[in-house]
Amino acid sequence: MNYDTMFQAALDELHRDGSYRYFAELERYSGRFPRAFHHGIGRDVTVWCSNDYLGMGQHPDVLAAVHKALDENGAGSGGTRNISGTNHYHVALEKELAALHGKESALLFNSGYLSNWVALGTLAARLKGCVVLSDALNHASMIEGIRHSRAEKRIFRHNDLDDLERHLKELPADTPKIIAFESVYSMDGDIAPIEEICDLADRYGAMTYLDEVHAVGMYGAQGGGIAQERGLEHRLTVIEGTLGKAYGVVGGYIAASTALCDFVRSFGSGFIFSTSLPPMVAAGVLASVRHLRQSSAERDGQKKAVALLRERLDRAHIPYLKTDTHIVPVMVRDATLCRTLSDELLKRFGHYLQPINYPTVPQGEERFRLTPGPLHTEEELDSLVEALSTLWKEHQLPLAA
Ligand SMILES: *Cc1c(COP(=O)(O)O)cnc(C)c1O
Repeated sequence: MNYDTMFQAALDELHRDGSYRYFAELERYSGRFPRAFHHGIGRDVTVWCSNDYLGMGQHPDVLAAVHKALDENGAGSGGTRNISGTNHYHVALEKELAALHGKESALLFNSGYLSNWVALGTLAARLKGCVVLSDALNHASMIEGIRHSRAEKRIFRHNDLDDLERHLKELPADTPKIIAFESVYSMDGDIAPIEEICDLADRYGAMTYLDEVHAVGMYGAQGGGIAQERGLEHRLTVIEGTLGKAYGVVGGYIAASTALCDFVRSFGSGFIFSTSLPPMVAAGVLASVRHLRQSSAERDGQKKAVALLRERLDRAHIPYLKTDTHIVPVMVRDATLCRTLSDELLKRFGHYLQPINYPTVPQGEERFRLTPGPLHTEEELDSLVEALSTLWKEHQLPLAA
């Protein structure tokens, strides 16, 4: 048996259909986001595709908190939560996150992916006869968690209330049900009808599990997400979020009732048997969450950058999806071209935009997913749109009306 030949054959397949992933090796400059050194081409670039939407990864409060905890508590947590690895910062952060969402409790995980995988996996597996109703465009972390639970799964059409209700109607009243969905869907930047989904959940006795990964820190008066912005937090059973995107560090969590959090804490293998986050990470996140609860300057700056970019794209007739969110998908609609344009933007113009190809988006919907933030300058925006314009002309790509 030559195992490497087998691995290579599978990789060749990815190369053939254009879905092989290349990583850009970057060194972000603290204090100069969104600038970074790109090792592949040996020069500084402007990053347009970061999920550190607000630049909190270099915020002075966050850095100070990380430094302090590092100096005082050392580099690691020293254990799983159960065996000596619960640090004071973990507990303070869980309290802060519960308060942020107006929930009784919160539970911290090492990533957002893990929080979905463990929480959904544990709830669906341990509630006898549980059925999960899952939006068709849910993130891989939810899909994998549900799969792991081995519970029955029903996929409803994306954001489609009629289809969701059709499934709910077919299930017996006494069957435990979880409706799993996201608030902001990150590729198209569209938002779920959260209130209507909660109405259906109430009518059919289902729990609601909302992934607010792309919305926490970004929406609502305190950065609690879309549910907070719409005054709906109390209607959701579980709100899940990441600490690695708008909060700029790393980690994930769920916020819910004390009983539910304790249930996941007590039965979730991926929570129990894994070394907890380093105290410095929890301390940095805590500073980030606290800052964004009382400051809207970053969110305002971010909205301004989005409005400005859209205005410039309109003027240049570059096609993009008009969304109600911070995500600006610039449509290329061709996998090879998307990669070529990305290369040219990088090498000729110093702009880093990761091509988003199949299977992340359907074939024919290849795009750049731009996330302009409060730290992108007007000059950088102008320079990007000028570069896009030049390339659109050179490649004779269709312009927007
Ligand atoms: C990124 C992402 C996650 C995973 O969060 P991480 O903290 O990056 O592991 C979960 N859900 C959605 C919708 C995401 O986009």
